Amino acid sequence: MSQIPTYVTGVPNGTEKGLYLAVDLGGTNFRVCSIQLNGDTTFNLIQSKVAIPKELMVAKTAKELFAFLAKQIELFLKTHHEDRFAAHIRRRQTASTPEGYRDEHIFRLGFTFSFPIHQIGINRGTLMRWTKGFDIPDAVGQDVCALLQKEIDALHLPVRVAALVNDTVGTLMARSYTSPGKTGTLLGAIFGTGTNGAYVEKLSAVTKSMEGDFDKSTGEMVINTEWGSFDNNLKVLPTTPYDAQLDRDSVNPGIQMFEKRISGMFLGEILRIALTTMMKKPDVSLFADANSSHNDYRSTTTIDETSCLFTQWAVDSSILSIAEADNSVGLRALRQEIEKSLGVSAASIEDAQAVKEIAHAVAKRAARLSGAAIGAIVIHTGRLNPGASGVPGPKSAAAITEDIKNLKISEAVSATANKLADTAGLAVNEDEIVDIGVDGSLVEFYPGFEDYMRDALRILPEIGAAGERRIRIGIAKDGSGVGAALIALVAAKMEAKQDYLGDLRARLAEVGEEENESATS
Ligand code: ADP
Ligand code: MG
Repeated sequence: MSQIPTYVTGVPNGTEKGLYLAVDLGGTNFRVCSIQLNGDTTFNLIQSKVAIPKELMVAKTAKELFAFLAKQIELFLKTHHEDRFAAHIRRRQTASTPEGYRDEHIFRLGFTFSFPIHQIGINRGTLMRWTKGFDIPDAVGQDVCALLQKEIDALHLPVRVAALVNDTVGTLMARSYTSPGKTGTLLGAIFGTGTNGAYVEKLSAVTKSMEGDFDKSTGEMVINTEWGSFDNNLKVLPTTPYDAQLDRDSVNPGIQMFEKRISGMFLGEILRIALTTMMKKPDVSLFADANSSHNDYRSTTTIDETSCLFTQWAVDSSILSIAEADNSVGLRALRQEIEKSLGVSAASIEDAQAVKEIAHAVAKRAARLSGAAIGAIVIHTGRLNPGASGVPGPKSAAAITEDIKNLKISEAVSATANKLADTAGLAVNEDEIVDIGVDGSLVEFYPGFEDYMRDALRILPEIGAAGERRIRIGIAKDGSGVGAALIALVAAKMEAKQDYLGDLRARLAEVGEEENESATS
């Protein structure tokens, strides 16, 4: 896997304070927000969102797009932070020399940029290529932070692009800030359009060379795994004919193979391919009235010619959630959805049952593979047995829970024992918890996604039921904004150190050229 160092060298603990800006350039929208971190694991967030004009996605020059982004930041500041904005302009006008003037009131901004980036510092990274329908050739190879800063400066805004942020890292930081207790979060993971994870690694384990400056004192480095491309050679991943067809017909065959079995962009398509394959089989009667004992006899099942079943990528993954959530006898909600979004009218109960079972199999596999990714990080980092010093510590609540469950006693007693064990399990010691932040519509909305992830965690021998109980998984709400703000905060601290060195050099330079040659080199 890519295992990209992010130049973020620690996670927050909830005591961080300050007002920060964050912007997020995703595929369709540009979000600007300001985040007040209150220092008690809570925050206040103001945000605005604009659709990116289609013509700017294919603008002639990068300048056109980034000038638009800077303009949105200006509008946001004027609307929501008028006082600070006005004070800044006033100070600028009264400052004696432009260079000598230092503004303590400059906003630090975290820039979430969801396109492939070669990161070379906490606020430096060059665009590798555009995706998601963007195409502005002259931006490729340029530092996107510098491009944004240039347009911000052209508008004289009190804003400094302090950090370039990957959405997984943002999720990790946001969860770590808001999660209960003192435990720092280990992993931030996305299960949305795509899937990816970023986790806290020991700096000594990072073998990649790193060009930019970073704070080495924490001994840690957040790593962006890019796990979506795990096992592209399919040595261990399960593969069905439907997976093979999806990959063959995709724009990037052989790439992102893990992601193609997990994320929202693909699950609907796997379902579509499985359904259409079944529809072609003469001995299977799907969406055909034959064998429909429970059908509505007054109408015939018909498939609309323009049904999205016949169009690649057209089936949205949200139908999997609807199928899972409908446990009624007549599957009414699901049959309505089949009519509405698959264009099949008067589907029988058996049809709906078939859709439900296939959708269930597709999503359950996705969730269990997601659990495998989480489990791999937990095992690799050794977070479940931190004090591996050889000295046996006091028995953990989780271990006692296991002991109780393993007692061989009569059924009635064991039922009570299990209850006791569950209560004990809920009371897992705060410092035995491994905290994980997740984000994305799939994990948020698919019913039971977390339960299936947990099933997978339990069957890993290195984790087991006892370890699984100690893993806490929480949604990182507003992750991209809050996470970007927190990374901007980390960056601002580093910046202060560098400024100090810069000042020292400048002062030494004044002392005289010859004398300081050795000191400044
Ligand atoms: P992004 O990845 O762009 O940040 P999201 O986290 O909202 O956005 O993920 C969007 C993806 O999730 C889409 O592929 C969509 O099909 C899928 N999705 C949206 N709602 C649901 C749902 N209720 N159940 C399952 N998948 C969903
Ligand atoms: Mg997202």
